[in-house]
Amino acid sequence: MNQAVPPIIASVPGQDQATLFLAGATERPHHAYLLTGPEGSGKRLGMRAFAAALLCADGGCGSCRSCRLALGERHPNMLVLEPTGPDILVGRDSSDFNTARWLAGRAHLTAPEPGRKLMVVIQADRLRIEAADVLLKVLEEPPPDTIFLLLSARPDEIPDTVRSRCQAVAFPPLTEEFAVGTLVGEGIPEDRARLACRLAGGNLGRARRLARDEGGLGFRDHVLDAARRAQDGPAGALAAAEAMASAAKEFKAGLGSELEAELEPMLDERGKPDEAFRGVIRRMQDAHDRRVRRAEREFYDWSLLALATFFRDASLLAAGGDEELVINLDLREELARQGWSAGDGARALAHVEEARADLADETNLNPRLILERLFLRLSSLGAARTASVQ
Ligand SMILES: [Zn+2]
Repeated sequence: MNQAVPPIIASVPGQDQATLFLAGATERPHHAYLLTGPEGSGKRLGMRAFAAALLCADGGCGSCRSCRLALGERHPNMLVLEPTGPDILVGRDSSDFNTARWLAGRAHLTAPEPGRKLMVVIQADRLRIEAADVLLKVLEEPPPDTIFLLLSARPDEIPDTVRSRCQAVAFPPLTEEFAVGTLVGEGIPEDRARLACRLAGGNLGRARRLARDEGGLGFRDHVLDAARRAQDGPAGALAAAEAMASAAKEFKAGLGSELEAELEPMLDERGKPDEAFRGVIRRMQDAHDRRVRRAEREFYDWSLLALATFFRDASLLAAGGDEELVINLDLREELARQGWSAGDGARALAHVEEARADLADETNLNPRLILERLFLRLSSLGAARTASVQ
């Protein structure tokens, strides 16, 4: 067997064993794979690269149309099933978009373009039992030239019957040193790379977005500014909640133009979707609509997560913890100057986490009230005072 690793697969960082395995599998692929590993370990990137290698006429050159489309999960021969709510549903019939029956219905159809067909299931552990049964039927009698790629961070929650039909490929977590080194290699200054990696909790893709994007660390700036306002007592706390709410609205408004830019290459001269891309475009639009609906909550969650790391650092330092474990490395002096007690830091952290949990509950219709309560609590704790330096 030719053991040369296709360029597209070689570009997946830090997962030599998994990529060697996938490279070896491109010539005579099995009909189903299960890629496992925690968020941020690169399994989705690995799936895209493997898909590109399977669809590219040159076995994964990394630069042709097929490779580029596969890397963006936009190749017409690539169907992607992804949970849109808590679970992946079985669906009414094969016309019920983004359900197990929808995917299964397409497994036996001819691919839109010549070549293989790939059926991808993201977060396969979220398949409802009935949905897993539908998938199992196609896995048991796999259509020719069709390859299933299942991804999961919790493979033990996938029914054994489905798991046993797949070859498993493990993507172990990447170390912080590796993630920082990767970003530094891409031209990001080390301080910023390390900060982004810690704020992203070891998720390389998220760390890259935080570090590269001008506004990537903006969540943290906004929320620390708000915390500074809250130090001026109850009126400051209400103003802080107000400022967060308008920053969230701005974030939501900014998302609108992103979709247009992404869809543009898939439209014909008249601005209509190219036939082969209909399914792909529909999925992108759905994902976009979902994201816009959740935009404000997403903004709050990212911001409060950043605020939580700030208070976590404060209690860590107050308790005499290892300075090496600080997340907000660039705020170390500020944190030290503010003289936190470990108890206050921990209480502030608990308030932030409670607010995050309340905001994550979508039945809770008034995010503004949750923010006001949080900043009032921080204000009376005197916690917000400490976030105010410079
Ligand atoms: Zn190619």
